[in-house]
Amino acid sequence: MGILLILAKRFIAGESFEQAKGVVKRLNDRGFLVTLDILGESVTNRKQAEMHRDDYIGLLKDINTLGLNSTISLKLTQMGLDIDDSYCCENVLKIVKTAAGYKNFVRIDMEGSKYTLRTIDIFKTIHGSYPENIGMVIQSYLYRSKNDVTTAIENRHRIRLCKGAYKEPPKIAFPDKRDVNKNFEYMAKELLLKGSYPAIATHDERLINIVKFFAEENKIPKDRFEFQMLYGIRRGLQEKLLKDGYRVRIYVPYGTHWLPYTIRRIRERKENFWFVLKNIFRR
Ligand SMILES: Cc1cc2nc3c(=O)[nH]c(=O)nc-3n(C[C@H](O)[C@H](O)[C@H](O)COP(=O)(O)OP(=O)(O)OC[C@H]3O[C@@H](n4cnc5c(N)ncnc54)[C@H](O)[C@@H]3O)c2cc1C
Repeated sequence: MGILLILAKRFIAGESFEQAKGVVKRLNDRGFLVTLDILGESVTNRKQAEMHRDDYIGLLKDINTLGLNSTISLKLTQMGLDIDDSYCCENVLKIVKTAAGYKNFVRIDMEGSKYTLRTIDIFKTIHGSYPENIGMVIQSYLYRSKNDVTTAIENRHRIRLCKGAYKEPPKIAFPDKRDVNKNFEYMAKELLLKGSYPAIATHDERLINIVKFFAEENKIPKDRFEFQMLYGIRRGLQEKLLKDGYRVRIYVPYGTHWLPYTIRRIRERKENFWFVLKNIFRR
């Protein structure tokens, strides 16, 4: 656990808002936009779900009071999706309502494929009442995502496009990374041309260059979309994009439930995995 905590510290802004707010302030001062994520997922009791809900409501208030330039990102299994869909929807609705009062924005992260449809349904329900204050995520590794992008464009849904971070079977997701990238490129172009302020969430420099080139070629202004990256990953690239005049939003997670998030980051990159193994055997 000690080694994992060392690695987690590279990817999270601390265990409390007190620590995270300093990180957000520094990022804002340098010109980055932020989205704050209170770590937590797979909640199975109502008390915990409501605690997370209230934490997010408090966070929106703090963001407003401190004048931070930050939206929020949350996971539906943190809000009770494993308990009951309409209960979860009610919890998220309360958060989005609060966000609307502060003219802020809530992004619903996308989790494993078991939750995709239900996440989209809850998103659509809330989007009906708060179209300006809620967005969702589409993962390019899923076969279904091309259709989801078309629906999102038709309904002016605000989308964050990413590759996808969960382990999915070949029945529903591209097993070959080249296909995931190809799909990402296709959907990014569709969203840039026809979407509503899409967020291009990747650290893949080749895809980022394709997006930059495509936007220039099609005269899509730099304020009509944003790049998003995770805190602690490819910092040089984040700075470079900012310097070139692009909007860059950093996803900043904090909180005590850092383990599943950290494991996803380790799985994504073999260097992280070797770092953990090397340190275990060094002891
Ligand atoms: C802002 C944001 C929000 C996200 N939200 C979601 C979500 O809601 N649901 C979801 O399933 N996934 C989400 N993801 C994760 C995403 O799906 C990918 O798993 C993750 O971004 C890695 O893919 P990549 O696009 O960076 O490309 P990759 O091809 O995996 O990586 C490209 C390059 O980025 C660097 N890199 C990537 N990952 C790491 C890492 N862990 N450690 C060190 N370097 C790394 C490396 O230099 C690598 O060569 C999000 C990602 C971002 C940036």
